Amino acid sequence: MEKDVNNDPEANAEFTRRGLRGVPAFLIGDDVVVGLDKARILQLVDHRVVKCSQCQSRLRVPTDRGSIKVTCPKCKNVFDWAP
Ligand SMILES: [Zn+2]
Repeated sequence: MEKDVNNDPEANAEFTRRGLRGVPAFLIGDDVVVGLDKARILQLVDHRVVKCSQCQSRLRVPTDRGSIKVTCPKCKNVFDWAP
């Protein structure tokens, strides 16, 4: 999930699109982490991006709470999710 932009053409293109070319940064899921903010990275990797089964929105859910109920902020769809 963590991408090294120097060795990943797809991630590289993504960074160029976001105007982050040349900045040390990681792309984790949909999140860009600029610089080497380890706490931020750790926070992000404790979560997983899942798709709402109804509207396909990408939602970030925690992986450390077992089975949870997720409410989609866009369409209010509620569904069960387990890591
Ligand atoms: Zn939804």
